[in-house]
Amino acid sequence: MLTLARQVILCDFDGTISAFDVTNTLCRLHIPKRWAELEQAWLAREISATECYEQEYEALGLRKEEIDAFLEQVPLAEGFFELLEVAKELGWEFHILSAGFDYYIERLLGRHGLRLPYTANRLSFDAAGKPVFAFLQNYDLQCGRYKAPCAGCKPATWREWKGRGYRVAYIGDGTTDFCLADAFAAERGEGDLLFAKETLLRYCQEKRIPVHPYRSLADVAEHLRQLAAQEMLPPAPACRP
Ligand SMILES: [Mg+2]
Repeated sequence: MLTLARQVILCDFDGTISAFDVTNTLCRLHIPKRWAELEQAWLAREISATECYEQEYEALGLRKEEIDAFLEQVPLAEGFFELLEVAKELGWEFHILSAGFDYYIERLLGRHGLRLPYTANRLSFDAAGKPVFAFLQNYDLQCGRYKAPCAGCKPATWREWKGRGYRVAYIGDGTTDFCLADAFAAERGEGDLLFAKETLLRYCQEKRIPVHPYRSLADVAEHLRQLAAQEMLPPAPACRP
């Protein structure tokens, strides 16, 4: 029986809480060829994640009102409200851990009257409506997995919560979750969980990282419910010869 008192869900935003990835979808719609080149350059360590974002938005050339109009078309993922309910019911804190931007996290949640704590990069706009970025600085220069500076380091935030004594359940879907999956594989503690779908799920399966596949966040909610029921059971008595 687990006796951990504090537990938190760290949840990716793009494609996990939002029904689809905001920046990737804008790029796929408007600059598919340039986007593929930039993503490839990032994965090949030729450019950093922050350079990748800057060049993507430069190529998009969109201003605030055009981005706002697009955001109106982005729904939240199926099962998200159910997951929040179950988290509250079972005593899981909920924290968004995003490699994306605060601007649309607040905007998309705000449409539903929600405010949730998050770790994310900053996106604002200058007087002409052009995007201005301020990236998280918590990456490790010694890491070397991608070209620095990264747009935030998810494992660093995951480790912060672990260091504060939390049991952590992480939920994600894509390439910006790969580093976290590796940290989970190497450093997870008893009771830590990783839920994945799509690109992240394929990555975990290829690397044999213990992962719980999910399709909708309602599946994650149900998993947590069942887990709580199991963990409330007293340990089975030892068999006597
Ligand atoms: Mg994502």
